[in-house]
Amino acid sequence: MLPTPFEFERASTIADAVSAVGQEGDGMFYSGGTELLLAMKMRVIHTERLVDIKGIPGLDRIVLNDANELEIGSRCTHKKIAGDSVIREHVPALASLCANVANVRVRSVGTIGGNLCFGEPHADPPTMLGALDARLVLQGPNGTRSVHADDFIRSELETVREPDELMMVIVFPRPTGPVTYRRFKHGERPSVNVGMAWSMEAGAHSIKSARVRVGALGSRPQPLKAVEGVLKGLPVHDAHRAIQSVLAEALDELDVNEDRHGSADYKRHLAGVLLLRNAEEAVAMRGRAK
Ligand SMILES: Cc1cc2nc3c(=O)[nH]c(=O)nc-3n(C[C@H](O)[C@H](O)[C@H](O)COP(=O)(O)OP(=O)(O)OC[C@H]3O[C@@H](n4cnc5c(N)ncnc54)[C@H](O)[C@@H]3O)c2cc1C
Repeated sequence: MLPTPFEFERASTIADAVSAVGQEGDGMFYSGGTELLLAMKMRVIHTERLVDIKGIPGLDRIVLNDANELEIGSRCTHKKIAGDSVIREHVPALASLCANVANVRVRSVGTIGGNLCFGEPHADPPTMLGALDARLVLQGPNGTRSVHADDFIRSELETVREPDELMMVIVFPRPTGPVTYRRFKHGERPSVNVGMAWSMEAGAHSIKSARVRVGALGSRPQPLKAVEGVLKGLPVHDAHRAIQSVLAEALDELDVNEDRHGSADYKRHLAGVLLLRNAEEAVAMRGRAK
């Protein structure tokens, strides 16, 4: 099917793009188009105007800033993040996640900003970015604001972004401990995924704090609070056993949708398996770093 007719505009500045989309949201930002064009062709989405943001300079930068935070421009493709030397050095788990998103065609043009803004529950980056304590910087007609990755997705295919807010950049602290990610998938998109990031002092043998997010099983990634609690202050080598001791309780707290990816019990089981594999990897990584 063809999309319903629409206008097409190329923006060369952020201000132009924001004003072209319009406060009423009659236009939409167009980045890689991998989600948007499919949805328009299926006539699930209709827009009066597509505003192409590919020509706006500076939205595809990746840097470690002066505040020791990593900044990833919203226009970075999965392929670019997977191959970037800064990401590979400081967050190899994110590079590997991006290297395995979708297929080569989607990775080459699909962007991290487009992934987040679409709000698809069966996605990889939102889970990892929640674990990494990321904030997403949006610019609208009245200025910029930051939204924490945990608060960005409101429900399935719905985010807190206003239609005329452009996502500029994703920012998170440079990790100080192991960062791990596991997913399980039946088809192209993840059925369940788990991201974990430990914060640790240099040379320490204990975990200062941990962030654990489980994604794809509800409408948005969820924290595993019982696991985060038990890991806080714990010697690294006790982590696996400690997680096992609270796992059933932690998995019970998850809000799980039943869908074609499986039943709630099955998804909870997968989340537990993936979490324990993350923990094994994190312990091994810390062992190697000593
Ligand atoms: C076959 C297939 C398999 C896939 N498999 C996976 C997978 O395994 N894991 C996974 O995580 N994802 C997967 N995806 C999703 C893929 O990651 C996204 O399609 C891609 O990242 C979207 O980026 P885009 O630039 O093409 O977005 P677009 O399609 O251009 O835009 C998507 C939405 O975001 C908005 N938007 C885009 N950029 C911005 C911005 N900077 N600011 C504000 N709004 C913006 C658009 O208006 C639109 O609403 C898959 C997709 C396909 C088609």
